[in-house]
This record gives sequence, C-alpha cells and structure tokens, in this order.
Amino acid sequence: MKRLMAAVLTAVLLGSLSGCAGTPADPDKAQESIQVIAMDTVMTFKIYGEKSTHAAYAAEDEVRRLEKLLSRTDPDSDVSRLNAAAAGEEVEVSVDTLALIFSAWFFAKNTDGAFDDTLAPVSSAWGFTEDSFRVPSQEELDELLEYVGWDKVHYGTDSLIASHDEGVQIDLGGIAKGYVADRIAEILKENDIPRATISLGGNVLAWGDRPDGDPWLVGIQDPGHPDEEAYVGGLRLEDAFAVTSGSYQRYFEQDGRIYHHIIDPATGYPADSGLTSVTVVADCSREAADGLAGTGTMCDALSTALFVMGEEKALDFWRTSGFEFQMVLVTEDGRVLVTDGIADVFTAEEESGYHYETVS
Ligand code: AMP
Ligand code: MG
Repeated sequence: MKRLMAAVLTAVLLGSLSGCAGTPADPDKAQESIQVIAMDTVMTFKIYGEKSTHAAYAAEDEVRRLEKLLSRTDPDSDVSRLNAAAAGEEVEVSVDTLALIFSAWFFAKNTDGAFDDTLAPVSSAWGFTEDSFRVPSQEELDELLEYVGWDKVHYGTDSLIASHDEGVQIDLGGIAKGYVADRIAEILKENDIPRATISLGGNVLAWGDRPDGDPWLVGIQDPGHPDEEAYVGGLRLEDAFAVTSGSYQRYFEQDGRIYHHIIDPATGYPADSGLTSVTVVADCSREAADGLAGTGTMCDALSTALFVMGEEKALDFWRTSGFEFQMVLVTEDGRVLVTDGIADVFTAEEESGYHYETVS
C-alpha cells in the first residue's frame, strides 16, 4: 500500500512540476502540468494530449473568471453584489452564478436543508470568511439563524436575476469548486483531451485513464493525520469525480476544542455528526439529476450535505435518494465505510488502524 500511495501522489497531486511536453511526433504523450492558486486553494491540472497546453490555460482562465463572479471577499463579485442588496432587490448576475444559485437551491431542497447556501452570516460569525476565528455565543447564532434558509433566495427562471429575503447572504463555497470542475470537464471535452487529472483542493476529476491504460489512483486522506501523507485508502478511478468534505480541511482550536468549517444549519455549530470525512464519487461522463446539474456540482453539494447528515442518514440518502453516486465515509470512531458500487476499486491502507466495512 505504501507503494500504491506513492503512485497516488504522482497521479493526482504532483501537479507542481512545470509543463513537460512530449515530442510532436507522439501527440498523445504531450503533457502540461500547471498549478493555480485560486478560490482559497491550490489547484493542479495535469493534462495529456495534443491540445494539453491550450486546455490547461483555458482551464486556468475559466477558474479565474468564475472566482471573480463567486468570491465573497471581492466586493464586485456577483455574490458580493447580491449579498449587499436590500431585501427583494433584483440583482443581475451572470449565467454561471444563476446556475449555481439554482443548483444550491436544488441540492438544499433534496437534502432537507443539510446543504444550505445561506449560512454565510453564521460562517462569518465563526470567522471562516476572513480567517478571524472566534466562538460565537448561542444567542448570537440563534439571531443569525433567523436569516438562514435555502428557500430565502429567489432566482429568475427566464432571466438572470436573483434576490433574497431580509438579512439573507449566500456562500457558495460548499458547491462552487464542483461547478468549476464541471466547467473544466467541458474544456477537456472540447479539446479532445484523452486523459487528465484535475485537483481542486479536495475535488478531484480523474479524466480518462492513465497513459499505461490503468485507472488513476485517487487517495483518500486520513482525517486523523491531515498534515502527513497518510491515507485511509485509494480508489482506482476512470472518468470520475471524487470529492471529499472533511472536518480536517479547515478548522481552528480554542480552549482544547476543535471547530471546523462545515456548519450544521440546524444548530449554527460545526456539524458534530460522528464523521470526519465524506468522499462522494460519480461518473463524470453522465449528467446528474436528469441534467439539472453537473456531476461535479452534485458530488460537491452532496459531500458537504452528507457530512452534516452523519452516518445513518447519509447511508439512507445513498440508498433512497435516486442520485447516482458512491461514497466513502470515515467515522470519528475509526471506521471506513465503502459503498458496494466502488468496493472493488477501493484498496484499504492496511496499517492505518481503521476498521473497514463494505455497505450495501
Ligand atoms: P466543502 O468543502 O465542499 O464541504 O464546503 C465547505 C464550505 O461550504 C465551507 O467552508 C462554507 O463556505 C460552506 N458551508 C459550510 N457548511 C455548509 C452547509 N451545511 N451547506 C452548504 N455550505 C456550507
Ligand atoms: Mg462541498
């Protein structure tokens, strides 16, 4: 498994090497690797094929374009302009922002509000927007929760207009990278890219297969050792998104307690669901939810929502929701649950100390 994991790093995370092109006579070997720092994360694009360089820089441009629309800290972004608007005021937004607002609404509704894009005032109170961490009082949280509710955002169905109720602010951080991954998949397709790995900090797109014909290897980080190259296992994937939400990805510590960034909309507190990470996997060559959202967007929204739900509700959702995905759950009490649709492509890290179960 150690050797397997070394291969993970090469496959998915080692995008920091600058581009190394193959010979023109062998176009399929052409390869471009770039690293992009955007949306609060380090992104690596490793792209093969004749048009790899063009595709890599087109993907970077797309990331920067979407970041400008969706940033909560840039006052000119669509999201900031909408958040600054008065109740009921109609704000014109780009087609991408509107699509994301619709997707956020759709997944919030379908997860019974476990995913909720209106938690912005609550996340800000915890200091997650500006990195000025603090523990708000329950009284303060209760007041802010009055303005939280996924049904308090309104969008045009035949116009690029969005508005919201009194005091409502949106934060698309739980879904935006998935949408970006969908847009990058479009760029790969348009440029006839045969194979690529795209890593957007926790959101991975394994496009095609590896040059040797094997599937890509995507590592699932051990939430107990986030600062080390430690994994609970690896997934061998082809043409798939794998998106992880974990409490170890962003947190602060105060008075011996850890407070992480995934908020339970029911309490306003970091979700205390017994899970430490959720990885959602789905086929990237298909559309999710009858074309209502891209698969990358779905994986991102669901990983956040399933983290909030906890083991029992997450398994129930996987069995009954009708969304086509598989998942790996890591629990606080040291178990790794792998759904049966990906059990045959999952390899456990034997020395991790975790107990592994396949669920059906
Ligand atoms: P992710 O890493 O995709 O799970 O997204 C986490 C980010 O989504 C946080 O940093 C917040 O910006 C936002 N967020 C936190 N809690 C929720 C929630 N329950 N529903 C939707 N977005 C959330
Ligand atoms: Mg998410």
